[in-house]
Amino acid sequence: MKINGEKNIETVLFPNNTMRIEPQEDDDIEKIESIKYHFGKIMEALGLNLDDPSLQKTPERVAKMYVNDVFKGLNKTNSPKISFFKNTSGYQEMILVDNITLYSYCEHHFVPFFGKAAVAYIPKDRVIGLSKINRIVQFVASKPQIQERLTMEIGEKFKELLKTEDIAIYIEANHLCVASRGVKDDNSMTTTTFFGGKFRKNKMKNRFLTSIHK
Ligand SMILES: [Zn+2]
Repeated sequence: MKINGEKNIETVLFPNNTMRIEPQEDDDIEKIESIKYHFGKIMEALGLNLDDPSLQKTPERVAKMYVNDVFKGLNKTNSPKISFFKNTSGYQEMILVDNITLYSYCEHHFVPFFGKAAVAYIPKDRVIGLSKINRIVQFVASKPQIQERLTMEIGEKFKELLKTEDIAIYIEANHLCVASRGVKDDNSMTTTTFFGGKFRKNKMKNRFLTSIHK
């Protein structure tokens, strides 16, 4: 396969598996059954009537949403398939993907936090399909997280995949646990960053921070 005239040097499964793992469909079916049962119990404990036609299917809907959608990052078999390309052009400047839509779940309150991410790197021997950057961010975000760890996990993942230390990550997110409960501040945004290699130096750090849309 050739893209932009560059030779595909390797195709691997994210995060670090060169072997394809068969999807664990049975596990997922069991998980959905278990979550459906327990979520029904939570609703009952809250005094909700599960015979109400509007609520009847809620435990199953929530279970499917958790396993198949918002927490699919917990199952490594859902990892995006990543293609790398040899950096034949010898490009040595910053590659920046900005305004990546990010949805995750606060692991302390089990409500969403969401916002934008920016990922930058300076390639060594390999480059990665640009849309794969979005997919990796979304995959790491699709599980209960805290924004600090999510930022570092994304940074470490790109270091591992791109085989370079020169990685910068910026995440800006709105947390529903802050906006809709407690202090109820829906304007405050939380910003986190990760800087590796050349991006630890002020020159590159500033170039990254002034290039992204904030
Ligand atoms: Zn929270």
